[in-house]
Amino acid sequence: MESNDNSRFSLAGKRALVTGASSGIGRHLALTLASAGADIVLAARRRDRLEEVRRDIEAMGRKALSIELDVTDRASVERCFETAESDLGPIEIVINNAGVADTAPFLEMSEEAWSNVVETNLTGVWRVAQVAARRMAGRGKGSIINISSALALAVQRNQANYASAKAGVLQLTRAMALELGRSGVRVNAIAPGYFQTEINADFFDSQQGQGYVEKLFPRRLGTLDELDGPILLLASDAGSFITGSVLAVEGGALLKGF
Ligand code: NDP
Repeated sequence: MESNDNSRFSLAGKRALVTGASSGIGRHLALTLASAGADIVLAARRRDRLEEVRRDIEAMGRKALSIELDVTDRASVERCFETAESDLGPIEIVINNAGVADTAPFLEMSEEAWSNVVETNLTGVWRVAQVAARRMAGRGKGSIINISSALALAVQRNQANYASAKAGVLQLTRAMALELGRSGVRVNAIAPGYFQTEINADFFDSQQGQGYVEKLFPRRLGTLDELDGPILLLASDAGSFITGSVLAVEGGALLKGF
């Protein structure tokens, strides 16, 4: 049916689960989805931090649940979805956002730094997406949004583990979209440029970091509210014909090339 209002962006009556909701981008996106009307499941390892976000969301008049989750542990992921759906109801939206960084020059990167980052940022995303999608496909609807990175589309020094994992997330997104499209589950990715959060605050607070920002094409970092439009588009019915896509949100930083 044709409609020209903004109601397709509404998430009223929907339930969304956000991994890595205890800080940074995940916390912000949880609040954004709640402000569009969704009830929210907040998941991460730090329960105390999740509880703070839960109180913020409840103050907005929405339901919220905080659940301890480690995306590197299959049993933890299964338990998280079981609790979420039995306490709140079917989850229609998953923001697969949990991630870590562990930078080192390629020649010096340890096995541990490689596998921690790949295990969380790629395998963890796969694990959460698979557990979510099995449930969603059975019900014939769902939207999964994987948080990749601009470093999936261009590379930088000292980030071989992170960039490889985030590039893997893009292919995972397309593979899932292909296999799940006809069961009503959409899968998309967002590739953010730089946003200051706990993952990079030390660098961007330093003089070196500030000098780096000056050299970026947009000459600034993103602000978290600049992720709101992209997430609402992909999460809501406004994006009902979008699947397998990658939305870069980086202020043109990738345009510069060399
Ligand atoms: P933060 O460090 O603030 O947040 C990372 C989140 O991931 C935390 O909530 C952390 O929660 C959670 N997390 C980490 N490991 C696990 C785990 N094993 N199980 C469950 N949760 C986990 O960084 P950002 O908010 O910046 O990062 C969010 C996502 O955005 C990441 O995937 C990151 O790679 C991506 N990104 C960030 C960019 C930026 O510039 N900030 C740019 C591009 C992408 P807890 O410790 O409580 O478990």
